[in-house]
Parts: sequence; structure tokens; C-alpha cells
Amino acid sequence: MPLEDRFANMWKEFEEKVLPFVSKPGRYIGNEFNILVKEDAEVKIALCFPDVYEIGMSYIGFKILYNIVNKIEWACAERVYAPWTDAEELMRREGIPLFSLETKRPLRDFDIVGFTLQYELHYSNILNMLELGQIPIFSSDRGESDPIVIAGGPVACNPEPMSAFIDAFLLGDGENLLPQFLELYREMRKNGASRDEILLTAGKKLQGVYVPKFYEPIYEEGKYKGIRKLFDELPLPVKRNVIPELKPEHYPDRPIVPLIEVVHDRFQLEIMRGCTQGCRFCNAGMIYRPVRERAVDDLINETRRVIENTGYEEMSFVSLSTSDYSLLPELMGRNYEIVKEKKVSPSFPSLRPQTYTVGIAKFTREGGASGLTFAPEAGTERLRRVINKQSSEDDFYRAVEIAIDYGWRLVKLYFMMGLPTETYEDLDGILRIANNVIEIARRKKVYNMEVHVSVSPFSPKAHTPFQWERQNSIEELIDKTRYLKSKNRCRNIKLDIRDPRVTTLETILGRGDRRISRVIYSAWKNGAKFDAWTDKMNFDIWVKAMEENGLKIEDYTREFEKDEVFPWDHIFMGVLKKFLWRDRQKAYQEAMIPDCRPEDICHACGACDFKTIKMLIRSQVDKNSSSDLKGESIALGEDVIWIDKTEINTANPSTTFSYRMKYAKEGYLRYISHLDLIRLFNRIFRKSGIKVAYTKGFHPHPKFSFSPPLPLGYESKCEYLDFELEEEIEPLEIKMRLIQNLPDGMSILDVRRIEKSKKSLDSQINVFEYKVYFNGGNLSDLISKFLSKREILVERSKNGDVKLINIREFVRDIFIEDDGFVVRLERGSMGEVPKVDLVIGKILGLDEIQVKKIKVVRTGQFILVDGFLIDPIEYNVINKSRVSYEEGDLHQHQEEGNTYSST
Ligand code: SF4
Repeated sequence: MPLEDRFANMWKEFEEKVLPFVSKPGRYIGNEFNILVKEDAEVKIALCFPDVYEIGMSYIGFKILYNIVNKIEWACAERVYAPWTDAEELMRREGIPLFSLETKRPLRDFDIVGFTLQYELHYSNILNMLELGQIPIFSSDRGESDPIVIAGGPVACNPEPMSAFIDAFLLGDGENLLPQFLELYREMRKNGASRDEILLTAGKKLQGVYVPKFYEPIYEEGKYKGIRKLFDELPLPVKRNVIPELKPEHYPDRPIVPLIEVVHDRFQLEIMRGCTQGCRFCNAGMIYRPVRERAVDDLINETRRVIENTGYEEMSFVSLSTSDYSLLPELMGRNYEIVKEKKVSPSFPSLRPQTYTVGIAKFTREGGASGLTFAPEAGTERLRRVINKQSSEDDFYRAVEIAIDYGWRLVKLYFMMGLPTETYEDLDGILRIANNVIEIARRKKVYNMEVHVSVSPFSPKAHTPFQWERQNSIEELIDKTRYLKSKNRCRNIKLDIRDPRVTTLETILGRGDRRISRVIYSAWKNGAKFDAWTDKMNFDIWVKAMEENGLKIEDYTREFEKDEVFPWDHIFMGVLKKFLWRDRQKAYQEAMIPDCRPEDICHACGACDFKTIKMLIRSQVDKNSSSDLKGESIALGEDVIWIDKTEINTANPSTTFSYRMKYAKEGYLRYISHLDLIRLFNRIFRKSGIKVAYTKGFHPHPKFSFSPPLPLGYESKCEYLDFELEEEIEPLEIKMRLIQNLPDGMSILDVRRIEKSKKSLDSQINVFEYKVYFNGGNLSDLISKFLSKREILVERSKNGDVKLINIREFVRDIFIEDDGFVVRLERGSMGEVPKVDLVIGKILGLDEIQVKKIKVVRTGQFILVDGFLIDPIEYNVINKSRVSYEEGDLHQHQEEGNTYSST
């Protein structure tokens, strides 16, 4: 896709001066499957995720908003992620602004810049991205030519700490609110309205829009006392926006499929929103109420379309508590047909032990999952009653027994420490539960069971029954950490306890008032960024920032008084403060409140108006849905759904068909690593409807055999892939089907049927040819000098051992051409071959950095047969007229130009 000239020049600079020198260039190139580009849209919004690409691309919310906005004829949404520190440093040095992946448009050139607030520890990155995008950091410094900066997401439920930097917060569900905001912006801009006029109108007219500059906090003697609005028509409190139903049109049929591996590299099917289990520490469980389940038909249709349009091989059923979905057996039963037909591995990210069944064990185990995760959260039944965790230890042990019986050897457990009323007996309970899992396994004669225990310190969250609670001090949490570590004597139990300083920072930023904006700014100025990364977070910077601004950490981690006004009280996220207080009182009585999902139990939390906003439970509204089933409905339970991998993956070798493909990897794709390429090809075949044969076992993978990896950053005109298919298809048809589904930069040059070979393609290829585009001065002298030497020693380290190798003996030929030279390398007797950039550096007398600036293209890979170089696409093919070299008639290839003399 051609870029606008001004962006194309900037991108060219980025390609030359940044990409070759960063750890993961694939983060910055865009160009993924299903990307949408709308150059001429009237209103342009940048959807910004304040962390790296791999994390941001795993976030389902952006996929939804990207789809919704790009469906609007006059609007476009593009994606922007935080550059990692190596890229940022080079971008700052070269004066390259932060830009979008779609059109490489700098952030400052968008009309609206929208951040998602998923986690408090992203705040410093938001300031960093604004500065890199050349947008004034403070809202008050922005002028008419600057974009409007908006933010939404769960952490926006206390917007005050970020109020100095964000022009408007969009609270609650964004599916209809964001389009309304864009429409208002478009209409008012057309009529010449100013930024402030637009913001004020949005604040008055759109439910869920909060514009901090039109509200003023009140402090008395340094204590926060509330907020007043500056214009009468503004709402106070500001109510979140809620959609009554999750509609199929909100979800993309063609979500973007990344070219590099991301954290959740799978199709995410949101099956419902909201959770009414009522865990008292959980912010999401409160602010996403009420539960709104999606219709089974919609979910099945979306699954079919997305799997076909993406080639994804894995999917997950996303919600806060997947096993609460009321029609789960029906959904699983119908989904099973797709899973089986399309060979998709399903996963359930959020299961409760009491709903874990043999069916789910089989369904997920056969689907290839390796670890099982439960969240008991607290070590004793007493403390679980305090936090309103609805599952018992017996449920948990029953689930563990099932898991062990079905082959699981790793269980991950999540706990919290520092919860209200916690004692050391509760901490002992954490290890007791973990030890009991090991004991259950031993009774079943399983001795290699592992339990990974993650313990996170409790942080009191806004809008929860525990919002009044005190957070344990860092010293208390360090003591508890030491205690737990000293008590763990089992080698099969691995304890991972989160740094209490991280939790403390979460609490300060999560419960902060407007004064915390200054703290965030000071910390960022002093170098805070990527605070969500444990190796990047520097707590001392934050302590200093608090001191600089005259604030105490204890003021934000202390217990709050009953009638105290909180900095987030003017934001109504659906659940009433009086309900939260009542529920907190129940916690101290160790009294639980049940899930309000049954129709007749309502605790009057405030989330439903019982007219448009109410629980949407599919088993209650879609009562006849099962009768529409065409296939067999398979119940979750003892007789169950499971994927018969023996059926799927045991393609008999005698019934598979082998092929070889020659392809080019150019343009953007040169920044895709070999491992990413393997995943990419799998999806290309799946999208093309070509059934690749799979290996056997618990983790089956497609039968692919690649030519040796191409160095990252190099283009190639001659890569090869051997693959086996379940059915015989004409090579030309394979080529034509694959061509429809290739990313930019990849082209298929040839496909042939080949004989099956026991040797991998990698091990058959032994000569490599590279074209080096270099026209510096005395090239022929440099080459002559290099070739005249018999020994050129360089250090090579492997597995920690450093040894000297003579790279000269691997260089077979060098030819000078008009625009550079060609070098051919040949493997040594042990199959080894030196890195080509090392050889180029030695030929030209350049260091590693200088070599990275030179364009290098792989122009040949060959199989050496009796001294002749054979193009692999000609080797071992089934059409005998093309394999005449096997008959010793090598001259035929020389005449056709397919074979090269070895000189
Ligand atoms: S208002 Fe009642 S039914 Fe609705 S979420 Fe709250 S407790 Fe449940």
C-alpha cells in the first residue's frame, strides 16, 4: 500500500535508522492480515495501547473498537503501540515521531488520540507516547491544532490521577459511546467549533463522557472533600455508559492477525460481559455488571467466520468467568463441530473449580493445553468467606483429581496475601493447599506433579467493597513473603511472590486524587516508563516523586473512613456506594452473598434499572435455542465433549502427499523471524483451506520442513518449504489458492510434488548465495585481499563455549557485479556455516553496526550434488523429466540456467 509522501519519507528514515538496530522489528511494521487502511477518512482516531505491540495486540477491546470505527464510512481507526526502549532511543535521536501502524501517520496528525487504561502502571507510558507523538503532555497546554486526547477502560473508573493529561474520559462500554463521540466531533468541527466547545457539549450530552477540566476538586486542610462542576448542565455524578446487549455487529469477522507472536496469539471469543460472583476485592466484577450473555447462534457464526478469515489454530472463550455462561453445554457441543472440522484448540482462561468437569478436562487437554490454572485466592475457608470467593476446597481437590487423571502434571494456583482480616494461619493454608495437590498426585502414583503458586499482595480497588481497606505496608508484605518462602519445603512447589512495591504503586495510582497527576509527571520526567515490567519499574523514582510533591504514600494506602469522600465518588460505575459498604460489613461477619444470577435473587447493587439494563441470561431468554440444533448436542459432564486427536492427527504417512514450494520473502516481511514465519505459513494454509498433515502426540504441529533460517532483516528471492498434505492437490491449484492469502512481501514462485525424504530440507541444502549491495570505493581490492588469505579467524560462541573458526574456508565464491557483489558460502563438514554478516564484515572491513546498514538479499540456496549446485525446487521432484541430474545429465540444467558451476 503506497504511503502518503510525507509519511513515506519518515518511514524510510525509520527503516534505515531504527529497524535494523532494534530487538523486535516486527513490532513496528504493521502490514498484518486483515489490516484496514482508510487514507481519506474525515475523522481519524489513533487507538493507542500504552505497552508493546505483543501485549496490545492481545487486547480484545481494541479489536472491537477498531472494527466499529472502521465500519463508519467517514471515520478510520489506526493502531499505535508504545515503542520498546531500544526503538524509542533511536526515534528520539533521529527526531522520528511516534506513528500508527496503518498509514505511518504521526500521532500529532490524528483528530483524536484514544488511550485504553487497562492498568495503573501504564500511566508513565502514556506521557511518554504523547511526547513521542509530539502532542503537549498537559491537557491545558493543547491548542486548536492538537488532537483531542481521550481515554477509557477499566482503570478510568478513577480518572483523577490522569486528569491533567486526558481531555475527556469515556466511561463504561465503548461500543456505542465512541461512535457518538466521533459523530459529535465531526458535526461540531464542520461548524467551526473549538476544542472546548466540543468537549463541553460531549460532557453535557453524552452519558459516560467526563471532561475533568470542567470540574473542580475541593480540598480542606490538604484533605480531598469532593468536586464541583463548573457548568450547570454537566452531570454530577457522571454515569458510565452501558449497552444492554452485546451484538454480533460489534465483533470483527476479520480481526487483525499479527505476523509476529503476541501474548494471546489466538481468536478470542467474548461470550459474555460482567460477573456476579461478587468477589469483594475484584474491580472488574463490580464495574462490568450486569451480566450480559451473547446468543449461542451469534457465537457459533462468529467462530466460523473468524476461523475462516484468520486461519487461527487456537481460540479462547473470553469472559470474567467462562464456566458461568448459562448455555455452556450447548455452546461447547456446537463449537465442537468447528473445533473438530477446523482443528482448532480451545481454551478456557477463567474456570471455577466447581464447574471443572471431566468434559472440560478432556476438551482442553486434547486441545493441547499443558497447564491448568485455578484461583483459590485465599488459603482458608474462613478467608474465602471474607472475600466472598464462592468455591470450596473440596471443589478444588475434586477438580485436581480429574485433572491428574486426564494427564495434567502442572497446576498453577493464584492467591492473594494481605487480604483484610488475614492471619498467618491463612498464609499457612496457601502452602497446605499446594502440598495437598502434590499428595493427591502421589496417591495416584504420579511423582512428577508440579504446582506453581503465584501470590499477589492485595491492593484495595476503587468501586469495590474493599475500597475502604488498608493495604499492608511494604515491610509487612516483605515479612509475609519471607515467611511463605521459609515454610515451603517441597521441591515440586514453586512460589512466585509479587514485589510488594509494585502493588503499593498500583494502590497509589488507583486510589489517587488529582494531585497524583503531578506525581506521575515528576516520575516520568525522572525516567519512569514500562513500570508494568518488573525489570523496568524503579520504585525509588516514585518515592522521590511523591516527596517532591509533598505527598505521603501512607495517605493512599491507609484505611479510609466510612463517610470519607473518595476521589472517584463522582464517577458512577453502576454499583452503589451504600451497597459496597453493606457488603464490606458482611465481609467482617464472614458472611457471603450468593451470585445474583438466579432470577429471584437481587442484592440491589444498583447496576440494573430492570428496564433496559438488566441481566441477560441466555438460558432464560433463548429457551428454545437447543431445538434449533442441527447436529448432536453434547453435554458437558461425565459423558462429554472431547476432541479426538487420534482421529485428527493420525494421518497415515502412506496417505499424505509431499510437496516443495519455492517462495520469495521481501519488503516488510524481512523483519519477520523464522519462528514467526512457521506460524504464519500454518495460518496461510488454513486460510486457503488446504489441509496440511499433522504430527502425532499431545502437541501436534503441521508437517513442515523449512530451508535454513534467513537472518532477520534480509530479503530473499529463494526460500523453500516442504509440506505434506492430507489430500492430493495439483501444484498449480495449491499455488493459486495460497496466493489469495499471502501477506505483502511474500510471493510463491513454484510448487512441485516431491518424493518423501527422511532428510529434512534444512540438512539437504548446503550452499547459500547472497547479493550484497555495496559500492564503496576499492571493492575489488577488498575482495582480492580477503580471497588471498587462507585463514581469517573469528570467535564463535555456542552454549557458552567460545571457539575460533576460520571463516575463509566457508567462502566458496565471490563475484563482483555492477551494484555490489555476490558471495557464496558452503557448509563445513559438520554442517556448520558462519553468519553471513560476519563474513561480509570481514570482506569489507566493517563492524556489525555498519554491516546492518547494507542491503543484503539471499539470491540462492543449493543442494550440492557431485560438485554441481542444484536449485532445491528441481531436486527430488516426482515429475522425472525435471530430475534428470539423478541420471547424471547435469548439462541439461546448465543449459536451462538452473545449475551453477562450482568454479
Ligand atoms: S442489580 Fe441485582 S440483579 Fe442486577 S447486578 Fe445488581 S444484584 Fe445483580
